[in-house]
Amino acid sequence: MKQIAVIGSGTMGNGIAHVFAQYGYAVNLIDISEDALKKALATIGKNLERQVAKQLITEETKTRSLANITTFSDFKAGVSTADLIVEAATENVELKLKIFKDLDSFAKADAILASNTSSISITKIASVTQRPDKVIGMHFMNPVPVMKLVEVIRGYNTSDEVTQTIMNLSRMLEKVPVEVNDYPGFVANRILMPMINEAIYSLYEGVAGVQEIDTVMKLGMAHPMGPLQLADFIGLDVCLSILRVLHEGFGNPKYAPCPLLVNMVQAGHKGVKSANGFYKYTAGSKDLVIADQFQ
Ligand code: NAD
Repeated sequence: MKQIAVIGSGTMGNGIAHVFAQYGYAVNLIDISEDALKKALATIGKNLERQVAKQLITEETKTRSLANITTFSDFKAGVSTADLIVEAATENVELKLKIFKDLDSFAKADAILASNTSSISITKIASVTQRPDKVIGMHFMNPVPVMKLVEVIRGYNTSDEVTQTIMNLSRMLEKVPVEVNDYPGFVANRILMPMINEAIYSLYEGVAGVQEIDTVMKLGMAHPMGPLQLADFIGLDVCLSILRVLHEGFGNPKYAPCPLLVNMVQAGHKGVKSANGFYKYTAGSKDLVIADQFQ
C-alpha cells in the first residue's frame, strides 16, 4: 500500500488526505472543484502548523506531509495509479454509485475501493462494481487528524483479506479501527442520530430550551458537547439525510426526523457551515450564542 487517492477535498477529504500524508503515503487528492482543492491545501497547512505548535509533529514532518499531497481535478489521472481509493465526496447515493462505477473502470484491478460514507449501504455501493469483495467502508470521524476511531464496515461481499488490510492500515495511521457489519447507520450514527433527533424533539415539544438540553447532556452524561451543538457541528443537513437513511432502511417510525429539523434545513439553517443552527456563529468568536429563533 503506497499510493492513496482521496476523492472529495471537503471537511472529511482534506482530513483524510492530511493523515495519510502525515504517515508517509503519497496522496492524490481529487475534487471537481478547483476552489475546494485550494481551500483543502490551505486547511491542511494550517492544521499541520497547529500540530507543530503543539509539538505533536516536527516542522520537517509538516513539510514532508505537504510534499506528499498532489491535487487533481482529472478523476481518471488521480485514481489510476492508486492502491487504495478513499471516497469522501458529498453524501448522495446517486453520486456515490456513479463514482464507484467509474472507479471500477479506472482504478487498478487489485485496488481497494473504500467509502467514508456516514450512512449509505456499502453493499449497495459495491453492487455497481465488478469487485464487491474489494469494496469496504472506512468511516473516519471529524476532525480526522484528532479523532481516533475508524469504523470499518464490511459489505455483504467484502473479503476477510480486504477487511484485515484496512484494519491494519488504520492502525498504521495510529487510529483505532472497529469492525462492524453493513446495516443502516452502521453503529456510530445508528446510536448518535436518534439521540440528536430526540434532543431536537425535546426542544420542538417545549420540554426545555437549547441551553438546558445541552447542559443536561454535558453535565449529566459527561458528553464534551451537547447534542444540539454537536448537530450544528456535524451539519443539520447531514443529520437529516442520515435520519432519512435510517427511517427508510429500517422502515421504523422511531427514526422519523423531527419536523423542526426538516424546517431548519429547508430554511438554510445548517449549523456551523451556514453560521446558524441551534446556535449562531460569528467568524473569529468562540462564544456559544443561542440562535435568535430559540432565545
Ligand atoms: P463536504 O461537502 O465538506 O465535501 C464534499 C466534497 O466532495 C466537496 O468538496 C465537493 O466538491 C466534492 N465532490 C462532489 N462530487 C464530486 C465528484 N464527483 N468527484 C470529486 N469530488 C466531488 O462533505 P464532507 O462533510 O467532507 O462529507 C464527505 C463524506 O464524508 C460524506 O459521505 C459524509 O457523509 C462523510 N462524513 C462526514 C462527516 C462530517 O462530520 N462532515 C463525518 C464522517 C463522514
